[in-house]
Amino acid sequence: MATLDGLPPLREVIQRHGLDAKKALGQNFLLDLNLTQKIARSAGPLNGVTVFEVGPGPGGLTRAILSLGAKKVVAIERDSRCLPALAEIGDHYPGRLDVIEGDALKTDFSALAPEGPVKIIANLPYNVGTQLLINWLLPDDGRWPPFWESLTLMFQKEVGLRIVADEDDDHYGRLGVLAGWRTDAHMVFDVPPQAFTPPPKVTSTVVHLTPRTNPLPCEVAKLERVTQAAFGQRRKMLRQSLKPVGGEALLVKAGIDPARRAETLSVEEFVRLANCL
Ligand code: SAM
Repeated sequence: MATLDGLPPLREVIQRHGLDAKKALGQNFLLDLNLTQKIARSAGPLNGVTVFEVGPGPGGLTRAILSLGAKKVVAIERDSRCLPALAEIGDHYPGRLDVIEGDALKTDFSALAPEGPVKIIANLPYNVGTQLLINWLLPDDGRWPPFWESLTLMFQKEVGLRIVADEDDDHYGRLGVLAGWRTDAHMVFDVPPQAFTPPPKVTSTVVHLTPRTNPLPCEVAKLERVTQAAFGQRRKMLRQSLKPVGGEALLVKAGIDPARRAETLSVEEFVRLANCL
């Protein structure tokens, strides 16, 4: 049966290339091109944009991004079995798909970024998703605003809730502080397990993040130290949990009540603490 983009249906592609899903690689494929288009559309206009995609797999999301007019997709895939299927997509969209076989965790995305707008769109392998997000939020080269204009990423819903959480929310923690400090982050829509092949155990969610142009000034390493100490013992009062980084004296200096708990502090208060370290 023909598809909207004229390429074969994904189920057929998977069968023909023997792409049975490997759990160790977090392979839960999306085979519905309407759904992959919906994800790609939530990244906003793609005309003239270079898109970095992590884990294209058989290429459902890649096809959606290309059909929506991205100038180019640079896709990083660890599983070499997927390369022939991706090459077929590359032939269909000549000059617009570069596939890099490799581990996204070891990829220097910033070095690969061309001139012009770059967006990152991915249905991430769950075992590396959080670390990749942290790498994009806290790049080694310290550059901010970063090379990317937006991140549109699929996570387990639990992780999505942690990314967008504000203070006084049960899901608020280190990830919420880091994402809230540097970006404006929101959840776009949920995707049920049945949408994937094979279905994962949990619901997933698409999160969209755009960088703040002027995040509150703060040293990353210091913010990491205070959030790690504070949320390492999140149920304790801050005078106790922050002992390794200065305890009560630090809190008094920052004008924060030492009897409060980590989850009640806003991003601005965490930044104040970090700047008093
Ligand atoms: N994008 C496809 C889709 O939506 O159907 C596949 C998504 S699947 C959840 C995750 C993909 O990431 C798999 O193709 C897997 O092989 C790939 N992958 C896993 N670990 C990776 C890594 N460290 N670097 C790059 N790709 C990885």
